Amino acid sequence: MLIFKTIQDIQNQIFALKKEGKKIGFAPTMGALHEGHVSLIRQSRRENDITVCSIFVNPTQFNDPNDFEKYPSTLESDMQKLITAKCDILFLPSVAEMYPTGLKNPKPLDFGFLAETLEGEWRPGHFAGMAQIVEKLLRAVTPDRLYMGQKDYQQAMICSDMIRQLKLKTRLVLCPVKREKDGLAMSSRNVRLDKKSRAKAVEISKVLRSVKASIKRRRTTDDGPQKTPVIDYEKKAFDRLSSFSEFKVEYVAIRNAKTLKPVKNISTTTPLVALVAAWIGGVRLIDNMLL
Ligand code: AMP
Repeated sequence: MLIFKTIQDIQNQIFALKKEGKKIGFAPTMGALHEGHVSLIRQSRRENDITVCSIFVNPTQFNDPNDFEKYPSTLESDMQKLITAKCDILFLPSVAEMYPTGLKNPKPLDFGFLAETLEGEWRPGHFAGMAQIVEKLLRAVTPDRLYMGQKDYQQAMICSDMIRQLKLKTRLVLCPVKREKDGLAMSSRNVRLDKKSRAKAVEISKVLRSVKASIKRRRTTDDGPQKTPVIDYEKKAFDRLSSFSEFKVEYVAIRNAKTLKPVKNISTTTPLVALVAAWIGGVRLIDNMLL
């Protein structure tokens, strides 16, 4: 695996590879790699000639300085995992390399509602910082395909909009959420959960599964003239998760999967997504399921 630390060096390498006609797949990460990240690398390897992974803990996307300080760093084992997964190139830049003129974004893109709702509401500034670094990384790596996880559904939607706005020549590939055996979505933050919180954290995916099952039932059987509105499903799921004293639930939302706009009623034609954000044991977890 080749390792580059500067934009110039990785650009030179990619330029040479593209000249040979190679297709480039790219998975940006913040390290502390787990099977979820590795699944992106594997999918990219199947679909491209060259796979690039970046590890960069991006300071501008942490709205909570405590979260930034506590973000796990496991570079040695990350590199081992990437080598085992046969990743071709690791891009490992410094903060000074990615932000030579400081952390402020002179021209932030406008994603409108997509960046204002849900995570945008609960983590102000998060998406502006995320989009700022993903744009810089895309300009450095210029991949044919960008691999992102459905785990961060809203993030992927914003990146898709960014690619459209900037007319970048890359295609976003959304990869399924990798889960632990009990159903908990894999996350770099899971290592910060103590034993008790880790055991309880599974309730997030259980609630999502039960929402999915209820919506499926509702779509396949008629629940009579008084159709249950979407808000009732959201409330039921929110209350169930909140009934465990370990959780502080920020939101449980059922939205239009293409726009993230709220929906009033369930139809068989509108694709939906259920999204959750909740704190447990001092760690903020997110998860979602397509319905
Ligand atoms: P992160 O390092 O958390 O910024 O994540 C880097 C990429 O890995 C993002 O595109 C995430 O959506 C993706 N990712 C994180 N967790 C998972 C997971 N459990 N399954 C699939 N992809 C994931």
